[in-house]
Amino acid sequence: MNKIIINQELCIGCKLCFKSCFIDVIKWDEKARRPVVAYPQDCVQCLFCELNCPKRAVKVVPDYAHYRFPRENIL
Ligand code: SF4
Ligand code: SF4
Repeated sequence: MNKIIINQELCIGCKLCFKSCFIDVIKWDEKARRPVVAYPQDCVQCLFCELNCPKRAVKVVPDYAHYRFPRENIL
């Protein structure tokens, strides 16, 4: 499964990773003011969360071992 790793020590709670994730893999803990990786299995590896983090606190590790490239489905 894909891994989305968030370094809580680097995180400043800016919410940009949460706002970047258009398919809701990342949820927001309002009380802790920190992102929560809720549905890593739905991640499409767009890297928007990682690229938008101003503190470089997000790392997406795609699960290429189980990744099927689109053309494999028509062969
Ligand atoms: S890589 Fe894209 S889909 Fe995956 S958690 Fe980040 S923003 Fe969401
Ligand atoms: S974008 Fe980075 S600094 Fe901002 S909330 Fe997400 S992990 Fe924390």
